[in-house]
Amino acid sequence: MKTDIEIAQEAELKPIKEVAASIGIKEDDLELYGKYKAKFESGFMDEVKNNKDGKLVLVTAINPTPAGEGKTTTSVGLAQALNKLGKKTICALREPSLGPCFGIKGGAAGGGYAQVVPMEDLNLHFTGDFHAITSANNLLAAMLDNHIQQGNQLRIDTRDIVWKRCLDMNDRALRNIVVGLGRKVDGVVREDHFVITVASEIMAILCLANDMKDLKERLGKIIVAYNMDREPVTAKDLNAVGAMAALLKDALKPNMIQTLEHTPAFVHGGPFANIAHGCNSVQATKLALKLSDITITEAGFGADLGAEKFMDIKCPMAGLSPDAVVLVATVRALKYNGGVPKDKLAEENLDALSKGIVNLEKHIENLKLFGVPVVVTLNQFVTDTDAELEFIRKFCEERDCEFALSQVWEKGGDGGIELGEAVIRTLETKESHYHQLYSYDASIDEKIETIAKKIYGADGVSYSPAAARQKKRLEELGFSNLPICMAKNQYSLSDDPKKLGRPEGFDITIREIYVNAGAGFLVALTGDIMTMPGLPKKPAAEGIDVDENGVISGLF
Ligand code: ADP
Ligand code: MG
Repeated sequence: MKTDIEIAQEAELKPIKEVAASIGIKEDDLELYGKYKAKFESGFMDEVKNNKDGKLVLVTAINPTPAGEGKTTTSVGLAQALNKLGKKTICALREPSLGPCFGIKGGAAGGGYAQVVPMEDLNLHFTGDFHAITSANNLLAAMLDNHIQQGNQLRIDTRDIVWKRCLDMNDRALRNIVVGLGRKVDGVVREDHFVITVASEIMAILCLANDMKDLKERLGKIIVAYNMDREPVTAKDLNAVGAMAALLKDALKPNMIQTLEHTPAFVHGGPFANIAHGCNSVQATKLALKLSDITITEAGFGADLGAEKFMDIKCPMAGLSPDAVVLVATVRALKYNGGVPKDKLAEENLDALSKGIVNLEKHIENLKLFGVPVVVTLNQFVTDTDAELEFIRKFCEERDCEFALSQVWEKGGDGGIELGEAVIRTLETKESHYHQLYSYDASIDEKIETIAKKIYGADGVSYSPAAARQKKRLEELGFSNLPICMAKNQYSLSDDPKKLGRPEGFDITIREIYVNAGAGFLVALTGDIMTMPGLPKKPAAEGIDVDENGVISGLF
């Protein structure tokens, strides 16, 4: 079996301007980044704004194993299949972070014969968007520390600074640091922190902003610290907005690449779904809708995280309305949820499958709460046995749930015909009655409780003393009416990654809650979720190399 990178390197790419031409985009509307990557010129959205929107399909998944269950693979393969079935389809995906690339999971360009290319570029520096976001984030940090150094006219309480530096790297040593050590001219000493770039509020803002004006307004609202009277100090107060926006000028423009079958892929923005809102940019999604019959988009991790945030944060803020959801399941993740250890997932085990399938059941029930029709797809692995596949098919059919086997990893678009037909059938025959799970007007308590009880299946919610104080302060500051971005581990529906399947009889513990005023949501941290991940004992980075000709190996 060839590796993802081998398949990607053997592929014959079309020049990106030809891919663009296939959906009616002129070369003039593109800003080329070499031959195979492009950004859209800033005025392009205006040119197509009167086009009718296509259908919007979200791809999500059950609770995953650490390797990922193939949402990106399915999104890409499904888009390829729908094009074969005569539907003009675009996939709108997230840009990968270097953290998982060098850590456990590997890249995020899909897999097998359902990938977007050039995969090495996408997984490494791509068009520099993450660099721009990191720079804008750290410019604000530098201006904040400098303001304090230069006399602190805004009377910032150095014990109450909330803005953190960021880096797109899994680097646990930077979680808690001290800055300003040295002489008087070296700054004011204080404790500081790094988050991974995909958890930065700037990433969230870039993904939610409609245009440059909206971007600037949101940047201005970022709270960096509180002053001695406990009032917020913002990026606008520090006069940082113009320079930050200048750094983000190009990062704000959606990127286009192609799938192995030359389907256009708009890949833009990439917040993690466990510590951020988990969806690609609103601009890329909207643009794809204007240019396609069907747009396939992915939200990160399981449906308890990415899909919930897609439905409750991205769609309401952007005025989007999804028409269908594809829920990806794998035999290996269902067995993992049934208690099988990671190294035994390739062996047939119907007993574990029947234990773990409650996880799929819960996600089907959850997605129905949003009123959007659901198609379950089984992303087939070569190790799956017929008995295992039939078990899952039967389970879905008994629940009157549309089901399709997907072999896109092995066969590309041809392996996605059954799924593509199921999606088309669903779009043509079932109406979406999409609605949010909770009203933004509800109290913070009510909103968190609704997510915890209805989506996670918790009995209730408890707050650490610090989180309870923070919540009260946010209410006093007038932030009660914002949606909630839950930060939770991706393995379990609960806040304990070891409780697999469909856990019951647990509470969700909120450890910390803070506002991302520019992004426009409250972040509630549960369990011991980290906003700066670490590397595993044997990082994927150890297997990556490049030869004298610049050919990269070991990326997956
Ligand atoms: P997700 O988007 O859900 O995190 P990905 O699509 O990135 O998952 O897939 C995770 C990894 O699993 C990738 O390395 C991909 O190549 C691999 N993979 C996905 N589907 C299959 C499959 N059917 N058989 C074998 N490997 C697969
Ligand atoms: Mg993915």
